[in-house]
Amino acid sequence: ARRKMAAGNWKMNGTLAALAEVDRLLADHPDPVSEVVLCPPAVLIHPMAGRVGGGPIAVGGQDCHDKTSGAHTGDISADELRDAGAEYVILGHSERRTDHGETDALVRAKAEAALAAGLSAIICVGETEAQRDAGQTLDVIAGQLAGSVPDGATALNTVIAYEPVWAIGTGRTPTNDQIAEVHARIRTELAGRFADADGFRLLYGGSVKPGNAAEIFAIPDVDGALVGGASLKAGDFGPIIAAL
Ligand code: 13P
Repeated sequence: ARRKMAAGNWKMNGTLAALAEVDRLLADHPDPVSEVVLCPPAVLIHPMAGRVGGGPIAVGGQDCHDKTSGAHTGDISADELRDAGAEYVILGHSERRTDHGETDALVRAKAEAALAAGLSAIICVGETEAQRDAGQTLDVIAGQLAGSVPDGATALNTVIAYEPVWAIGTGRTPTNDQIAEVHARIRTELAGRFADADGFRLLYGGSVKPGNAAEIFAIPDVDGALVGGASLKAGDFGPIIAAL
């Protein structure tokens, strides 16, 4: 059976003071059944990893460069994330695709770099509202998977997150049937390429809250969540972890 996962994406939120939330989370959930990952801003990775080291919370980055080192001002390599204590990295988040023009090909190159560095990749896909309205959702998802997921992906080193762009930070979520439909398609696409497709964890992301987590986690092929806003406070993320 696939081990459930709750991953928190802090995005560009949180200072050193926010690490107190991690202490609170650990105090409230010392022994979670599911895998718990927190992806803070890059400057917090090392202190957070030091804080949770050896415990049930893993730390991840929110992006990495596709090269291992060199003249790339402002960028961070997968090796550097690993060195700082990260075990995961989120790649291809819609905010990176939009803010930084990241293409499927670049996301794939970054994922290859991440896997080579020994990180696990959480690769994000998701349609815009216009694409959903145009009936293109499943084609968009299939295209992003084909372009963004490297051939070296396995159930052990790669997690797929379905995040409809229009559901991120909006308080809106797809219907359960819509989530189930996309997750089933993701599983089918993976099965076309990977022998261990059944083992990949598929996360849903987009306005997951304590109040809707249990219902979303009951949907077939949903193995957990990638949580933004509700991962910032232990009082919100804790109940989501407990719902898995
Ligand atoms: P929200 O949970 O704030 O909607 O963000 C989702 C997300 O983008 C996580 O990566």
